[in-house]
Amino acid sequence: MDFRLSEEHQALRDSVRDFAREVVAPVIAEHYEQHTFPYEVIRQMGKMGLFGLPFSEEYGGMGGDYFALCLALEELARVDSSVAITLEAAVSLGAMPIYRFGTEEQKARWLPKLLSGEALAGFGLTEPGTGSDAGGTETRAVLDGDEWVINGSKAFITNSGTDITVMVTVTAVTGTRPDGAKELSTIIVPSGTPGFTVAPGYSKVGWTASDTHELTFDDCRVPAENLLGERGRGFAQFLRILDEGRIAIAALAVGLAQGCVDESIKYAGERQAFGQPIGNYQAIQFKVADMEMKAHTARLAYYDAAARMLAGEPFKRQAAIAKLHASTIAVDNAREATQIHGGYGFMNEYPVARFWRDSKILEIGEGTSEVQRMIIARDLGM
Ligand SMILES: Cc1cc2nc3c(=O)[nH]c(=O)nc-3n(C[C@H](O)[C@H](O)[C@H](O)COP(=O)(O)OP(=O)(O)OC[C@H]3O[C@@H](n4cnc5c(N)ncnc54)[C@H](O)[C@@H]3O)c2cc1C
Repeated sequence: MDFRLSEEHQALRDSVRDFAREVVAPVIAEHYEQHTFPYEVIRQMGKMGLFGLPFSEEYGGMGGDYFALCLALEELARVDSSVAITLEAAVSLGAMPIYRFGTEEQKARWLPKLLSGEALAGFGLTEPGTGSDAGGTETRAVLDGDEWVINGSKAFITNSGTDITVMVTVTAVTGTRPDGAKELSTIIVPSGTPGFTVAPGYSKVGWTASDTHELTFDDCRVPAENLLGERGRGFAQFLRILDEGRIAIAALAVGLAQGCVDESIKYAGERQAFGQPIGNYQAIQFKVADMEMKAHTARLAYYDAAARMLAGEPFKRQAAIAKLHASTIAVDNAREATQIHGGYGFMNEYPVARFWRDSKILEIGEGTSEVQRMIIARDLGM
């Protein structure tokens, strides 16, 4: 039992920490305010190799592991969550399905550009009418000769409409199983395919410098070989992708929670009330101590889930616990950090205002807190 980082992981964490402070922090507030995608920051993250972290070198990856990705996400989110979710979705939802389930041709075509960060991909599971109940997918794909004809729509798809987005993978009903249940499969749809429309970006509460769109497919035709993995394995594929993704979202949530501690200590040392810095008051110190306790325990939870995953052991319950706990404490910490900042905490110029707006989605995206509880209870045999 040793939760200390290896030298490689430590070096990665430190370099991403420096990058977040020196490159992301100075420019992100402007992007956040203007709702613009930070292409230049993303390009530099690509040059650092962040998009290739958990992939083998064979496809242009860095030969690292999923834990390395989590460390990078934590450090980015400590400064800003829009860039962190862009990386999380690009790697764990965009490239990973191709890496895990794709044919050699699909890997050779898509992975090198996705792993370099030069291109992005989205993962379309959620639909306007169904999210948590992903088995309720309504989008249909029918095989017509050597083409899939796709009809339906997807909601809230991250990284699906940037200038560098090259494709989305979508889950669709491709038939009926012998037991009467829907047969779900996953299909790659390149950007620009006729019949595939990307709606203008949503107006969001947070993550405003990240890219999110509704997608529609209207008799959209793609070659039969764009099927990802086996026909009918769509459900199993996204369950696997989401299990891993939960660890990554937990890491991102820990980063936000830790960023709240950082900003609170700084502000409490500067802000004077009743003749002294507010950080001298025990009420403020206790808030910060509680915030640190929460960030620390949530970090241990995601380290544990990641360690189990890398050891090839079952990790579903631990990933759900990590995601549930980390997102809960991220919201707690954002609320307390805002409180410590008083009225300035409600002003967008302070990072804690961004943290507050960015925290809530962590209890919703990649499985709501209720869904995490369902997973944990089910794994306990209930
Ligand atoms: C900014 C953003 C980015 C996103 N990016 C992506 C993406 O890239 N790809 C993608 O596929 N999706 C994406 N999503 C979708 C996200 O994963 C879903 O919003 C989420 O899974 C919840 O689904 P829903 O919104 O349909 O809520 P619903 O499923 O309608 O849930 C509504 C409420 O009911 C609760 N509920 C549902 N069922 C039960 C139950 N059985 N018991 C108790 N409570 C229940 C939920 O917990 C929730 O509180 C994104 C969402 C956002 C907002």
